[in-house]
Amino acid sequence: MYKAPNIKSDAGIIRELKDLPGRVAVLTMEIPWAVLQEQCPWEPDSVQMVTDMDLETLERLESSLPPCDVVVGMGGGSCCDTAKYIAWKRGCRMVLVPSIVSVDAPLTNMIAVRVDKTVKYVGDIFPEELLIDYDLIRRAPAALNRAGACDIASIHTALYDWRLGHENNGETYDAAVAALAADCLNELDANAEEVFNVSPKGIDTIIDLYRREVKFCTEVGSSRPEEGAEHIVAYNIEHLTRRHFLHGDLVGFGIHAMSMLQDNRAEWATGLIRRCGLRFDVPDAARNELRGALASLKEFKNRAGLFYSVVDCKEVTPDFIDAVMIGLE
Ligand SMILES: [Zn+2]
Repeated sequence: MYKAPNIKSDAGIIRELKDLPGRVAVLTMEIPWAVLQEQCPWEPDSVQMVTDMDLETLERLESSLPPCDVVVGMGGGSCCDTAKYIAWKRGCRMVLVPSIVSVDAPLTNMIAVRVDKTVKYVGDIFPEELLIDYDLIRRAPAALNRAGACDIASIHTALYDWRLGHENNGETYDAAVAALAADCLNELDANAEEVFNVSPKGIDTIIDLYRREVKFCTEVGSSRPEEGAEHIVAYNIEHLTRRHFLHGDLVGFGIHAMSMLQDNRAEWATGLIRRCGLRFDVPDAARNELRGALASLKEFKNRAGLFYSVVDCKEVTPDFIDAVMIGLE
């Protein structure tokens, strides 16, 4: 069942943490923890540094962590997900304090864990209390914070594919939810400059759009409204290279390429990405790796049994790949 989060945002709001009642366990990383100590020294009952998201690590942590009334996850996606795991297992109160807005982990109910180096989703806990501290978040590199907007911008290509799946493949389509998703895309468009500047308004925009997206995706029971062929591109790059990338970088490239394949206001979509300051040339991948991911898109999609999209009805030709790559310049 979806639960709406209570979100408090302000500069310096992390100081409120020290007033939390009961036994508090903090799951964090060196940098956000140092920032908090700088602003207001605080000694909670337990402080644990998050190292990795292996399921084994989480299980060990959960069994060794002393009893607590509140668990605080302060940091990036791993810290939030680790806190979600502990609070889910123990059924205790949870407060999340993201130090970066590059992923939607602070808003979703699922927990991304690694089993044999593969991401698996476990758990079911909707974050109900969030503290958004502009000062803390603005310490993270701007490019990483902006990257969070990619999973909102992906609505552009995802909605096209969802409709296509409905028309060509008999999938359930909810026009009211699609309209809610389109509203989010428009809101991002209207606030692109704030996102670019990682201003308080830009940070609030990303968090609020994640909140809305998680809500309607939960209600419709799938991530169709925000996950289309651009995500297939992202998954294939990771599959082919066996490397891990900043999710937003891959999705940005996917939006650029798939809006072209869809013939779906591609210039506008790439323009939106540029105006938000998002990267879409995947700086951590070689050009031939990106070309390879496009060339093998259909084969990858079929083998992985992924959802219906533009990849099923349009051919990715060498000329198309050239045009996509030229568009990166
Ligand atoms: Zn995504």
